Order: sequence, then C-alpha cells, then structure tokens
Amino acid sequence: SDNTAAAQARHVPDDLPKGIQHYIDGEFVDSVDGDTFDVIDPVSNQAYMQAASGKKADIDRAVAAAKKAFDEGPWPRMLPRERSRILHRIADIVESRDARLAELESFDSGLPITQALGQARRAAENFRFFADLIVAQADDTFKVPGRQINYVNRKPIGVAGLITPWNTPFMLESWKLGPALATGNTVVLKPAEFTPLSASLWPGIFEEAGLPKGVFNLVNGFGEEGFAGDSLVKHPDVPLISFTGESRTGQLIFANAAPFLKGLSMELGGKSPAVVFADADLDAAIDATIFGVFSLNGERCTAGSRILVQRDVYDEFVERYAAQAKRVKVGYPHDETTEVGALVHPEHFAKVMSYVELGKQEGRLVAGGGRPKGFPEGNFVAPTVFADVSPDARIFQEEIFGPVVAITPFDTDEEALALANNTKYGLAAYVWTNDLKRAHNFAQAVEAGMVWLNSNNVRDLRTPFGGVKASGLGHEGGYRSIDFYTDQQAVHITL
Ligand code: NAD
Repeated sequence: SDNTAAAQARHVPDDLPKGIQHYIDGEFVDSVDGDTFDVIDPVSNQAYMQAASGKKADIDRAVAAAKKAFDEGPWPRMLPRERSRILHRIADIVESRDARLAELESFDSGLPITQALGQARRAAENFRFFADLIVAQADDTFKVPGRQINYVNRKPIGVAGLITPWNTPFMLESWKLGPALATGNTVVLKPAEFTPLSASLWPGIFEEAGLPKGVFNLVNGFGEEGFAGDSLVKHPDVPLISFTGESRTGQLIFANAAPFLKGLSMELGGKSPAVVFADADLDAAIDATIFGVFSLNGERCTAGSRILVQRDVYDEFVERYAAQAKRVKVGYPHDETTEVGALVHPEHFAKVMSYVELGKQEGRLVAGGGRPKGFPEGNFVAPTVFADVSPDARIFQEEIFGPVVAITPFDTDEEALALANNTKYGLAAYVWTNDLKRAHNFAQAVEAGMVWLNSNNVRDLRTPFGGVKASGLGHEGGYRSIDFYTDQQAVHITL
C-alpha cells in the first residue's frame, strides 16, 4: 500500500502520463489486443503505471508505418541540410528538457538524480553530432584513367529496428536514433520493459521538431518470443537491427535474424578490467576505479568491475579502496547527495544480491556485502568490494551489472595481461601506470574494444564504440554509425 515507508520515500514526479502507449504513424495507440504490463519504481517496487505490451500485431503496424514513411515520405529524400536542421531542433528540445528527463529517468530507473541530469546533454549531443556529420559527409569517387569512373552512391537502408536496455535508457536510445534518422532511415524503437517512462518523451520532442509522421515509431513491451522485441527481429521488412543488451540476448537475436541475413550492430555485456600498476598515481587510480564501478549504480556496460592490482601496492590499494567504497553514499535516487541509488528492478536486485552472497565464498569481503542500513525496502545494495578473487571465480568471470567489484593481485605485466584477457568479454579496459611504454604496449595487447589510459571513461563521439569477443559485433561511433545505417552502392561508368 501507499503507506509503507518506501512508498513515502519515493519521489513521484508531477504530471506523469496516465499510462504508456505505443506511438505509431504519429498517433498514440494501445496494443491491438489491449494488453498492458505494470511499470514499477525501484524505491517502492510498486506499480505506478501501466504500459502497453506490444506483440507481433503491434510491431506489424509500426513497421508498416515506418515502411510507408520510408517508401513514400519525404524523410529519406530530404537534403542532408534539411534533415540536419530538424535533428538540431531535436537536440535543442532534448537539452531544454534536461530537468524533466532527469526526474523521470531517476524515478523510473533508480539512477541518482545528479547522474541522471547529465543524460539529456549527452542525448542532445548524439543528435547534434550526426546532424553535423551528414552535412559534412563526402563519399568516394575513383577514376581509372581512360576507362572508368566509379562513385559511391550512399543511401539509407529502410526501417531500422532499435532495441535498447534499461540502463541510461533515454541516452542509449538517442545513440541509435541519432545516426539512424540522420542517414534517412525510418525507425521502430523497442525500449526496455523495465524503464519505458523516459521514452514516452520522444513523440512530443519529434513532433515539435517537425519530424515527419511515421519516421519514428515506438512499441513498448517485452523481448521474448511473440512479444515486441522478438517480433521486430523477425519482421521481414526490417533489414537492420541495432541492439544493446546482454550478450545472451545478442546471441538469440543473431540466430533469429540469420534467416533474413539482417544487418546487425550489437553492443553487449562486459566485465572490464581496471589494471593498476605499482607506479601509478594511486590517488587518481582509486578515485577513478571507485567512480568506474559505482557510478550509474554499477549498471554500466563499461564498468571497471574487475580491478587488477600489482602486488607491491596491493594491500595498500585494497585498504584505501575499501575505505573509500564505504564512504560512497547510498540514498534515494531523487536526493542530490546520493551517489548510488536503487537498482532498476527487483529481479535485477535479486540477481546482484545472489552474486554478493556468492562473493562471500569466492573472495574476501572488505566493504558492503548486502542491503545498506536504513533501506529495508527497495532495490538498494551497498557498494560491495571483494578482494583476493581468483580468476576462476564466477564473480571474476560473470557480468554482475551492479555496485560490486572484484579485486585480484598480479605480479608481472604478462600476468596482468593474461588476467585482463581471461573472460569471454572484451568491452573496455582501464590502465593506470606512469610508464608510457607499458601503458601503450598493454593497451595494444589487451582484448578490449576501448581502452582508457590514466583516464576516466570519457569519450569523443568520433571514436569507435564497441566491444570484441562476447561484448559485441561491429563498431559504431562517428562515420562507423553512418556506414552501419547506409548502403554504399558502387556505380561504374565506362568512359
Ligand atoms: P537484455 O538483453 O535483457 O534486454 C535488452 C533489450 O532486449 C530489452 O529491450 C529487451 O526487451 C530486449 N529483448 C530481450 N530478449 C529479446 C529477444 N529475444 N529478441 C529481441 N529483443 C529482446 O539487457 P538488459 O538487461 O536490458 O541490459 C543490460 C545489459 O546491456 C548488460 O549486459 C549491459 O552490459 C548491456 N549494455 C551494453 C552496452 C554497450 O554499449 N555495450 C550499453 C549498455 C548496456
């Protein structure tokens, strides 16, 4: 009931929509079969709203609208400058809704409000960046003297299916919407079922910016067979799927898309190492590795969730790291002093807590270890640190996706590299050392799509983004995203 302490502690934003609907061909609609599901907030774990639960019939409608907008509408045919203007308008509007977006995102996902506040700026930048890029886009022409001229005719592909996870949902949606729309495709977005609230802002933003009807379509619901996500992957009129989520889901989507030979971009899970050498600036390394796994509640694909520390400084590092982890402030998501909020959903909370219990057998608990004091309800987990974790431990190998970190000692550079590469994942790696050669040699050898040397996880939008091994397929970022969302037809002319 609403009288529980948790229900009172939650901060419910004003003027929530009455319910969450799909948005198809410029109209808000319910599911064809009328089905809905509960949306809960992670502080009270009570349903605060119903969202339309999309199935095959709803995906069919959305894809038909997107296909019509692609085949007959103005969007793919506009000059890049015209599309760019609309994308810049989208960015301006997104940025102006920063506070509202943060409030909704924090309420729905449990992210600390101060960290949710940066998300609109990043989302806006994803539109601005691709708006600028398409205007600057130049394609190749090749001359074979006296024989041929060849040029590249770049064109949008069609209806792009975008499937996104629940961590920083709005920002990750923008990461796909920006390039997909900039290049002239039309889209069907299937946001994560745990966090559908912020995606409900898109229709208003797009309408206000002047995006033509049918270009953007939104279908809410689950991923499983027969539901929205699966139906989008299996729709024959959707030639592209851009997916961000778990590696296991990525494998399923890969298989389901195979009969259609779809274009796939997969940004999957991680278990990224942060390697701290004895010669590193330990103050900086500790601050960054604390932030790297406890910011965004640890629900971050590039979290540095395995910290490998050289033996000479190991004991000192563990002691100082544990002390600092204990100072990380767990609190209600809307409280501005909160550094770790509530995990997104009770199912995910149960999963993270099961790893915390497992860790007590697999490692030495030096901070946290369960529910923090003062939070008897809701999905709160104290920042948890395990030391002396062996590389065959499950907490070393498996993505936990919460505020839980494993620390492991090493002696030599070779051992550090072997440990860093000793998981199925290969998304990010962080290296802390003052030895320039060692840093570069390690960076080049480590199996990771992205490496940060003496650096927090900050990236320039022009750089490649993606993982290797089980962390992904293909790279987006800058021109790579443009390449994914376009066909490059080669036209040959005889002279
Ligand atoms: P998830 O794989 O459970 O779900 C992601 C999305 O896929 C959801 O919208 C879901 O409904 C949908 N889905 C599920 N099954 C499907 C199916 N069979 N067919 C089509 N769609 C389906 O992932 P999650 O729990 O929402 O997100 C957390 C995961 O995402 C973590 O593993 C994290 O590392 C990863 N992630 C990766 C990146 C990256 O860029 N590499 C970024 C953020 C999150």
